[in-house]
Amino acid sequence: MIEKTIKSTCSYCGVGCGLIIKKEAKNKVMVEGDPDHPVNRGMLCSKGRNLHYVVNDTSDRLLYPQMRWSRSHPLDRVDWDTALTRAAQVFKSIIKQHGPDSVGFYVSGQCLTEEYYIANKLVKGFLGTNNIDTNSRLCMSSAVVGYKKTFGEDSVPIAYADIELADCFLITGANPAYCHPILFRRLEQHKENNPDVQIIAVDPRRTDTAAFADLHLQLIPGTDIILYNAIGRRLLEQGLVDKDFIDNHTEGFGYYKEQVKKLSLKEAAKLCGVPLADIKKAADIIGVSKGFISMWAMGLNQSVVGTNKNFALLNLSLITGQVGKPGSGPFSLTGQPNAMGGREVGGMANLLAVHKDLMNPDHRREVAQFWGVNEISGKPGYTATEMFEALDSGKLKAVWIICTNPAVSLPDVRRVEKALKNAKFVVVQDISNKSDTLDFADLVLPAAGWLEKEGTMTNSERRISHLPQVVDAPGEARPDVEILCDFAQKMGFRGFKYFNAEEIYQEYCAMTKGTNIDISFLNYDRLKTEGTFQWPVNEYRHTGTPRLFEDKKFYTPSQKAIFNIPSTITNRSIQPDTNYPFILTTGRVRDQWHTMTKTGKVSRLKTHYPTPVVEINPADAFALKIREGDVCEITSENGNVRVKANLTDNVRKGVIFLPMHWGKKLDSDLNRSNNLTQNMVDPQSKEPDFKFTAVHIEKY
Ligand code: SF4
Repeated sequence: MIEKTIKSTCSYCGVGCGLIIKKEAKNKVMVEGDPDHPVNRGMLCSKGRNLHYVVNDTSDRLLYPQMRWSRSHPLDRVDWDTALTRAAQVFKSIIKQHGPDSVGFYVSGQCLTEEYYIANKLVKGFLGTNNIDTNSRLCMSSAVVGYKKTFGEDSVPIAYADIELADCFLITGANPAYCHPILFRRLEQHKENNPDVQIIAVDPRRTDTAAFADLHLQLIPGTDIILYNAIGRRLLEQGLVDKDFIDNHTEGFGYYKEQVKKLSLKEAAKLCGVPLADIKKAADIIGVSKGFISMWAMGLNQSVVGTNKNFALLNLSLITGQVGKPGSGPFSLTGQPNAMGGREVGGMANLLAVHKDLMNPDHRREVAQFWGVNEISGKPGYTATEMFEALDSGKLKAVWIICTNPAVSLPDVRRVEKALKNAKFVVVQDISNKSDTLDFADLVLPAAGWLEKEGTMTNSERRISHLPQVVDAPGEARPDVEILCDFAQKMGFRGFKYFNAEEIYQEYCAMTKGTNIDISFLNYDRLKTEGTFQWPVNEYRHTGTPRLFEDKKFYTPSQKAIFNIPSTITNRSIQPDTNYPFILTTGRVRDQWHTMTKTGKVSRLKTHYPTPVVEINPADAFALKIREGDVCEITSENGNVRVKANLTDNVRKGVIFLPMHWGKKLDSDLNRSNNLTQNMVDPQSKEPDFKFTAVHIEKY
């Protein structure tokens, strides 16, 4: 029997689909798509449709705190007071001995905004270090740099509603058919209703997205910048640019023109491995379009030249003047449900809350004043991979990991394991006992999951949703904000006594006042009664802002958008050689999510892609005498993987693909794609490269 019907938002990807939750007796739920929600209009993908299994099945849940006194002892059950008292004692002692930069927090784009906000306030305001970073570093930090340097702030200018107003899409380094399915469904419907709409896909693999596109540019991995510059050159040559926009609303066009002229289209086509005619065709489609949207995700961002790729792509929107008008704009697709919310509250080692700049002393003073602390350190904290390097080298002594599984998801995971073993103190705060990272924990804190706590999230289009608590958390699991606030109080910090999550949100909303992400006129009541809002919401009765920059005034000092010139057009990853002649790219499969601690327990989500396989081009497989289903060993400088082969011409010759989801606990140490990947990052965004690893493959 249904006891209660309530609205919420899907906890998986950054699309942010609306759900109707039907609560049944005995703490069980059913989910349906919300037909009135502006994002999904009732639709749900396979992951969203099966979310109730994740909530209803508590067999894998962490139910009570566990602690060990030393690494030679097993984890024992303890009560919350003992657990948090110990955490505070250890953190105080390490900070006293080694200073505040010897501790760090590694959090997640799945944290709710209130959790992210409190964690940042605790670490940057009170622990006195900027060592807080997030797994969102792995998916969109290159896009953050791109937006900041182009528009002056990390601001996605566009809304999903622009999809139905556009007639040209460049989808690059993204497979929304698998990773943002409902967004892709809207795109499919738009194309069905308007067959003249043109979709260009750029991807080394023939993904479902590429197969649906009108034009697929199957480039050599890492040659994206050359390709976008070539498209820019062709647009210039054909006069398909918006001169008025360039002259009046941008800076740096002269340098851009010089750079794109350095390579001929013919040279670019050869370097990218793409037919010259297709580059011309792509440019001509973009150039005559009335509404041009570029969409991208990890395929671009996860690269040692990720920010340069972003610059080159964003420049295409600038030369065509396709920003701040209906059906146009560059649209970075966030992978996680609240990656955007985390950015808003400054949830990274080099950011401050409300888009303030960590390197700006005035901004640090303003934030410190708001939190009632003396100062915020001006030293950037360790980013995700730096944090584990610092644990490995002993510079970082203690790490608190919330809602993420770095022992599977970070590059070069064997080094991550070594770093965690080397740490003096590891706290893992999670919902699932299937996280591989638990093997390294000195303290395990059971957290409440989706629907078991209240808070807000922001999706890819800046849309804020309220998520109510619907069911009770199992065992002694508690909301993350409660855990963090209790810890803060045990540390002796004032300013962490909140009655509920709503009070935390009100504090954050007040902090946004007068900024470009001002939501000071938003609150839980409005979110509960009026629905979702796209920031800013900066006036009384303001209903949100679907599109930014309609006045062509950007957030840069000159109010002009900036052409940023990539510092290199070539990929700086370690190139294939005779020992490691193939390029490995890794990515997601349709029905799985991250390291499968949630989707991995839903049987019907396993049927589409039951076990990890390596995709290899049949011509390469023939040369290596590999047949369909043969077990192959893949090796890189870092490690090895053994999985079965899937022969498919969806991958280019010379390229192989592995899914990124599988870890030890689910299957085997030899299934982890990140045994192979390298700990190389983009120098500006510090985002790791999961899309280009030189490997060897042979039949095992
Ligand atoms: Fe959830 Fe994303 Fe699927 Fe929507 S598209 S139902 S947000 S996983």
